[in-house]
Amino acid sequence: MISRFFGFALYLFIGSLVGQVVFGANGLWPGAVLGAVLWMLGDLVGLSRSMRWLQAQQQSATPGRDVSQPQPTSGVWAVLTDRMQRMLRKLHNTQLTSKARLDDFLLALQASPNGVVLLDAQGRIEWCNQTAHVHFGLDPVGDVQQYVTNLIREPAFMRYLAAGDFSSSVLLQGRPRLSGQPLNLSTQLHAYGEGRRLLLSSDVTALQQAEAMRRDFVANVSHEIRTPLTVVSGFVETMQNLPLTDAERHHYLSLMAQQASRMQTLVIDLLTLSRLEASPLPRQQTWVDVDALMRQCEEDANALSSLLSSSKHHLSFTRSGQACELAGEHTELFSAFANLVTNGLRYTPAPGTVAVTWQLLSDGRAEWAVQDNGPGIEPEHLPRLTERFYRIDRSRSRETGGTGLGLAIVKHVVQRHGGELQIQSKLGEGSRFALVFPASRVRLVMAADSVSDQAVH
Ligand code: ADP
Repeated sequence: MISRFFGFALYLFIGSLVGQVVFGANGLWPGAVLGAVLWMLGDLVGLSRSMRWLQAQQQSATPGRDVSQPQPTSGVWAVLTDRMQRMLRKLHNTQLTSKARLDDFLLALQASPNGVVLLDAQGRIEWCNQTAHVHFGLDPVGDVQQYVTNLIREPAFMRYLAAGDFSSSVLLQGRPRLSGQPLNLSTQLHAYGEGRRLLLSSDVTALQQAEAMRRDFVANVSHEIRTPLTVVSGFVETMQNLPLTDAERHHYLSLMAQQASRMQTLVIDLLTLSRLEASPLPRQQTWVDVDALMRQCEEDANALSSLLSSSKHHLSFTRSGQACELAGEHTELFSAFANLVTNGLRYTPAPGTVAVTWQLLSDGRAEWAVQDNGPGIEPEHLPRLTERFYRIDRSRSRETGGTGLGLAIVKHVVQRHGGELQIQSKLGEGSRFALVFPASRVRLVMAADSVSDQAVH
């Protein structure tokens, strides 16, 4: 301010001096006025340059850094524009940082597995992420400023909004997936800012399915245990209250033993399943002799066939090609192999045929197959056979000591060994259950001769 005053005074002084030198004593005041006018003109030029500079910064994408308009280089306007330039740069940098933060924040929301919709105080969409698009079919660009109630029109959502209690979530049906499977969404509104709301949705389809499966499983287990338990407790009551002959007592005891063994088998199968689910995958380095497994299954199968009926099955066990070993867990593999053979015998009325084969496939994989000429299975049952407690012929399964868990165990075992269970069946013609193991888990066993040959050479 002082320099400005001195500048003005200097112009007056020089003006009056020039006036005096040119016009004598009369020129003093006109000279001073001329000096003042010149000073003002110079000042106006400075002001107008500053204004043009400011306007250029205003319109620029990089305020404080735009050089399309020159800055005043001297005087108070130069100082002023210089300060403004520094302020603008600072402001611009703060803006850039805030924008980067906002972008990061929106990217984080975009990456969220939950649907996120920001609503203004009127319930209009301000922003939504890609997951919200998948969940509700909202368009992150086209649906901005649309009322959310025009786009999510489910009655349950309308009721939720009308009730105004957002302390808990509401279950909505989302847009069906591409596969056509329904999508169940847990949706909740959260208040924030001034009247704004955040709508969050999460996909709970798998969770609900798991919960339904758990409920079914508990109901099934309870049902399976309740039936034999009722029978046993009925007999106990009879034996306690009625005078029975020795023969009757013996008969009742043998029926009770049957039911107890049924419960025991069920518990063993349940424990096997839970062990399979909990234990680590079978090691790739432990090798199991398939011929030995086959012999073990053959012995058990012969015993079972005589137990099931007086006329025996036509049973055959064939290994085609060289002897093999399979990498995995002996107990698990035996349980899966034996389960298929047992099923073949239990569901094929004697003297039917049950043929068990082990063979190497052309692609290096190996297959354990059990083919029977029993009643066969209708196609609609095939995809469900490995579900826990799924049975086609409930009474046949029970009569022959089935728990409904056999094929579930088999499927689990084969999958844990990297293989698959293949089922083929035709009603009235029989069924073929095959376990196919990957080549990486199969190795040929050298014949004793060739081993000793190798040792000699
Ligand atoms: P279960 O203990 O009842 O035999 P599984 O899980 O082993 O239970 O088998 C499921 C169902 O598949 C059986 O109840 C039966 O109806 C059917 N099934 C299994 N194996 C055969 C087969 N070889 N022939 C016909 N039906 C079969």
